[in-house]
Amino acid sequence: MTTSNANETEAVYHLPDLRYDYNALEPQISARIMELHHSKHHAAYVAGANRALEALRGARGSGDFSTLSMLEKNLAFNLSGHVLHSLFWDCLSPGGGGEPTGWIAEQLDADFGGFSPFREHMIEAASTIQGSGWALASWEPTSQRIVIEQAYDHQGNHGQGTVPILPIDAWEHAYYLQYENDKRSFFEAIWAIVDWPRVAARLDQASLGAT
Ligand code: MN
Repeated sequence: MTTSNANETEAVYHLPDLRYDYNALEPQISARIMELHHSKHHAAYVAGANRALEALRGARGSGDFSTLSMLEKNLAFNLSGHVLHSLFWDCLSPGGGGEPTGWIAEQLDADFGGFSPFREHMIEAASTIQGSGWALASWEPTSQRIVIEQAYDHQGNHGQGTVPILPIDAWEHAYYLQYENDKRSFFEAIWAIVDWPRVAARLDQASLGAT
């Protein structure tokens, strides 16, 4: 490339700081899991997304698109990993728990018959993912409702246009050091640290068309 400039080499994606310390979500999530999950796993997705963008820019510059499908897959995987982890951290809080109130509670009543059936559906979705993935509560703009999806890896098996509002990480790295093979216990425990006002704010944003 002869047209490169300083801006083109700056990272596009950045690892967000957490709003709480690594030990703040104990006992539901251990400090060691949080440290590894944020500083290693999430950081790797950020780096991977930046690398994929850079490689795609290089392919355009050289005209060599021979590895394009791999690069596009790398972008989708790592960008989705970055987006979902950023949202996951934001939806959790040491002061979380309880049940949602207001509009999001009414929406869960309308779409799931209440918070309890919604939570059971989410726990089941997270527990039955085959391999690595996420249980996602997502706003579906076409029908104006909340749906639960099972995303495979980070980017597969969810409807186009849906906007995640509450993701639950069901990769083994999210729980195995602490819960070992009893992953359902993790998915049952996590509700004590869900920050419902943040999820509700995300729903507001999603339903207005912002992502
Ligand atoms: Mn993860």
